Parts: sequence; structure tokens; C-alpha cells
Amino acid sequence: MKMNCCKCNTDMKKIKDKFHNFTIDAWECTNCKEIIYDEEDIQPILKYNKLKENKKELITTVGILGKSKIIRIPKIAEQLYEIHKGEKFKFDLKPDEIIIKIKNNQ
Ligand SMILES: [Zn+2]
Repeated sequence: MKMNCCKCNTDMKKIKDKFHNFTIDAWECTNCKEIIYDEEDIQPILKYNKLKENKKELITTVGILGKSKIIRIPKIAEQLYEIHKGEKFKFDLKPDEIIIKIKNNQ
């Protein structure tokens, strides 16, 4: 895939950039340094920021599947981290919280 800068029409290169502290794919102009993001990548981040602005929290309810307790991953988290079936999470257990770590994300 190739992209040209909308300002100076120079080739853009693919980079990783921080957008509201999330690292996402972006395109940077090799000439004027203009940076553009993919709408699909920034949409969930903007949505999450809005949630936080409105003081809303992501809540999930524990369900039961056979003998296991299950929790559902909120849709917005699924989009933010591009979580797919078969993905492995690492649980870091703290006295009053569970930290869920995902492969590619720091
Ligand atoms: Zn440019």
C-alpha cells in the first residue's frame, strides 16, 4: 500500500506513532513530516476518551460457562487491541486488581 502526502504529495512511510498514549500505525510524510492516521485505528481511542470524559467505566459481569467463570471483553477493548479468538492473555494478579496483558501491546 502506498500513500501520498495531502499537503506536498510526497511519498509517505509507515510508522508507529502515539495517539493519546496508544501506539498505532500511522503514515508520515518523508518531506514535510505531516502525519496521518487510519480512521479505523483512532475511532475506538476517541470513543474510549469520550467514555472517560463522561466518567463512565467499562464494566463487565462475570458469567458461568460449565465450571468456569467467564468475563466478556468489552467491545471497545476488542477494537482497541484488535483481540481475536485464540488470543492469549497474561494475568498479573495484584491484591486488589487483575492486570491483563496482551501480546503486542505494552
Ligand atoms: Zn508532505
